[in-house]
Amino acid sequence: MYPWRQTRDPYAILVSEVMLQQTQIATVLDRGFYIRWMSRFPNLRALAEATEEDVLSAWQGLGYYRRARNLHRLAQLIMHEHGGRFPDTPSAIRSLPGIGPYTAGAVASFAFGLAEPIVDGNVARVLSRLWDDATPIDSAKGSQKLWQRAQAIVQASSDPRSLNSALMELGQVVCRPIKPACMLCPLQQECQAQAPEQLPVKKTKTTLSEVTERVFFDLSPLGVLLEQEKGSRRTGLWKLPALALEEGKTPPPVLLKTSYGITRYKVTLWVHEAPAPPHAIANVQRFRQAELKELPMPSPYRRALEKLLETTSCSTQSFSLAL
Ligand code: SF4
Repeated sequence: MYPWRQTRDPYAILVSEVMLQQTQIATVLDRGFYIRWMSRFPNLRALAEATEEDVLSAWQGLGYYRRARNLHRLAQLIMHEHGGRFPDTPSAIRSLPGIGPYTAGAVASFAFGLAEPIVDGNVARVLSRLWDDATPIDSAKGSQKLWQRAQAIVQASSDPRSLNSALMELGQVVCRPIKPACMLCPLQQECQAQAPEQLPVKKTKTTLSEVTERVFFDLSPLGVLLEQEKGSRRTGLWKLPALALEEGKTPPPVLLKTSYGITRYKVTLWVHEAPAPPHAIANVQRFRQAELKELPMPSPYRRALEKLLETTSCSTQSFSLAL
């Protein structure tokens, strides 16, 4: 059983739910993110008192850093406005920063045993099939139906915690997207699905937009030059500095080309040699190699930087030793 299903601590449950919002369970659990976070910030107070740099650094590798910032804000708000006690009513939980209906339902039912619904992808699939409903689950009407049905089911239950957990597990293990195990399903008698594999229906297909990003790698005996992001979702994180292309001028040679995905974008990242003369960029600083590990940095830049440093240390050993 997952560690967050073996506790009633609302903070521990919240952390797991927020991590799982946009990250696979295998990453959160098998790669140790949840366990490391909980040992670094075991309670609301520890998180509230941490610096933003510490929080972002602990979140490294999970992406979508807004989640970490919201958790940090939430911990500070509960310490200051709720006397350090996690709110235990549905409306107060929903009013916390970064908490949507799903996360609110998970905390309310798993931590406090409240009869609050949860609709995640697994539950949506089960409910669409139980009612044989082809209303797109990503439409306003479809979403409304799902939440109303989930609410009706949980309110009729004497054990909301177990009910929500069972519904999620049913979707994960039995009512699978492909080849649902209907013969093993405890809801087989009630289920109205005629062609379960054709449900649920979605109205939109996500199309990826292609984006190009150019940065540069500037390494000197004083360290590697990095730029701190400002005014974006990645505010506070460090990255390779942006390369401004001047019209009519040939860009510096390319050292590395790689790509990564973020939300609905496929980004091609070109890393160039440092421009000469150097760009005038605000928010830049040089870091020695030993300092890079603790620096909050989005994974695509970290991977690129590691490759570049590896290549540099192979070709210029003395340079690497100077770092
Ligand atoms: Fe899903 Fe089949 Fe169970 Fe219906 S009977 S809920 S389609 S597993």
